[in-house]
Amino acid sequence: MDKIDKTDDEWREVLSPLAFEVTRRRGTERPFSHDDFPATPGRFHCLCCGAELFDQSDKFDAGCGWPSFTRPAASDAPVGESTDLSHGMQRTEVHCTNCGAHLGHVFPDGPAPTGLRYCINGVALDFREES
Ligand SMILES: [Zn+2]
Repeated sequence: MDKIDKTDDEWREVLSPLAFEVTRRRGTERPFSHDDFPATPGRFHCLCCGAELFDQSDKFDAGCGWPSFTRPAASDAPVGESTDLSHGMQRTEVHCTNCGAHLGHVFPDGPAPTGLRYCINGVALDFREES
């Protein structure tokens, strides 16, 4: 998949204001605002570039109001991490390495087998049912 490199103005043209704020400005959507995806089998793709990021089978209800996953869809899924020191906390930020979209954060308090909780903004995800 080709890497995508667009300017902010180009992203603004194709994204909703909230999606732009979250993915290009490292914003956070309100909890319980975008966690209403169907529970049917499928994959969660990057809203910005369409890359496959997460799988329904790894999704769990963390009760936090954001879609939560135990791991990326595949070992080579373009899910990258960086250190986020904003808001007086040290957190691990998660982004799409294919287009640079901010997705959310990953925390070490998830369920087995990974013990990880990928806490992702639903507005940054495009769910596609398995056909
Ligand atoms: Zn992407």
